[in-house]
Amino acid sequence: MSNYCPVIGLEIHCQLATKTKMFCGCEIEVNTSPNKHVCPVCLGMPGAMPVPNKKAVEYAIRLGLALNCEIDLNAMWTRKNYFYPDLPKGYQITQTGGLPVYDHPICKNGWLEIVKADGTKKRVGITRIHMEEDAGKLIHDMSPSQSHFDANRCGTPLCEIVTEPDIRSPEEAVLVLKKIKQTLEYTRVSNANMENGNMRCDGNISLRASEDAPFGIRAEIKNLNSFTNLEKALYCEMNLQASTLDAGKEVEQCTKRYDPNADKTIVIRSKEDAHDYKYFPEPDMVRLVTDPAFVEEIRRTLPELPDARRERFMKDFGVSEYDAQVLTEDRDVSEWYDTAAKNCKNGKVLANWVITELLAKMKDLEGGLSALKIKPEQLCALVNLIADNTINGKIAKTVFAEMFETGKDPEVIVKEKGLVQVTDTAAIEAVVREVCAANAAQFAEFKAGKVALKGFLVGMTMRKSGGKANPGLVNQILDKLAKEG
Ligand SMILES: [Zn+2]
Repeated sequence: MSNYCPVIGLEIHCQLATKTKMFCGCEIEVNTSPNKHVCPVCLGMPGAMPVPNKKAVEYAIRLGLALNCEIDLNAMWTRKNYFYPDLPKGYQITQTGGLPVYDHPICKNGWLEIVKADGTKKRVGITRIHMEEDAGKLIHDMSPSQSHFDANRCGTPLCEIVTEPDIRSPEEAVLVLKKIKQTLEYTRVSNANMENGNMRCDGNISLRASEDAPFGIRAEIKNLNSFTNLEKALYCEMNLQASTLDAGKEVEQCTKRYDPNADKTIVIRSKEDAHDYKYFPEPDMVRLVTDPAFVEEIRRTLPELPDARRERFMKDFGVSEYDAQVLTEDRDVSEWYDTAAKNCKNGKVLANWVITELLAKMKDLEGGLSALKIKPEQLCALVNLIADNTINGKIAKTVFAEMFETGKDPEVIVKEKGLVQVTDTAAIEAVVREVCAANAAQFAEFKAGKVALKGFLVGMTMRKSGGKANPGLVNQILDKLAKEG
């Protein structure tokens, strides 16, 4: 198979976390009885008039600012006409329209930054973010074969984020999607839960012979609901297009879906164009005029975003860029670490505990962070006990295991179990001397220059002290005894 260069762009739909729908006052509630939250507006009854939800507009602007977009203070609503049984209105109100004259999405020309596996950073453009309303839901029953319609989701506010075709590999596409999910979570604009469907991703992909060749014909893969499926679907389509091109054939422009079980992309419809939807300006609404002061207020109250938090963790707590990246991936984890680090004497050691112990243990814990018994302040106290030489790192692991199980304070556990580290030099020296006497042959070899035996002697001393000796002091004393001759 020849080597082709992929060109990838993403379109991400996310449900905004508002209390009510986009154009009516109906409540948004999941897992409730079907058709509970409906009214003439979201059912598209003749004569019903839509009124935009100010909170949804605020969220869209907040997301746009977080993704470095320009805000259109005079955005336009358009009507996208199509028939589907889950769309009683027969159209969807959106902010896109194919023609430049209709093209006034609320946010455009933004960018985000990803950090690739090799540590290099890359900017990916955000073409636009537009607002629209969701359709309802069809529920298919197999026995007896029948379909049901639930209108609760009709009119739920959505933002569609469209990236520039700047992505050059499926791995980069996953990083972009992760960054968008992270931004949605940090700004609290959406629950961004892919499993629950409040975030869905479509991937566009085409191949070309080289990095400077014109773009090839693309396929669009709809509704990818996990990072894994996005990556697998893009690889699958890449291979398919490459073998098509190798055979001297043309790739067909089409819309597809991905079947993860068969690892196949399947055509759901062939080429469609904007004019198929007969877009026109929404006649029931005026332009969405936004006061610049409203935008500035949202900008002023933007929360700290992932990139800024990563930089701050490096600067204030001395953690490495990689650790800062891991700690800020999830908003809740970053807040947990931030709280713990506030009064911590060693932010770097704390970061190690969070990453290698806490996050590892949390994987098996149902309920994640909120189910943790150990509080941030307690892990901070544990790290401070190490920093103060009250306990050593080895004992700290025992203490941590108990804290994780019981939620007890580390000071209490240390006291109860008599785990305070021995830092009394004379006491430690006595133990070291005993160990050296009992292992005279090894001690003699160590003295003669066999450095490898030092570890053995340190280990024996630690064991004899019940793990409580300060390992640094044990090392120092051994060196001293070796010189004494
Ligand atoms: Zn309604």
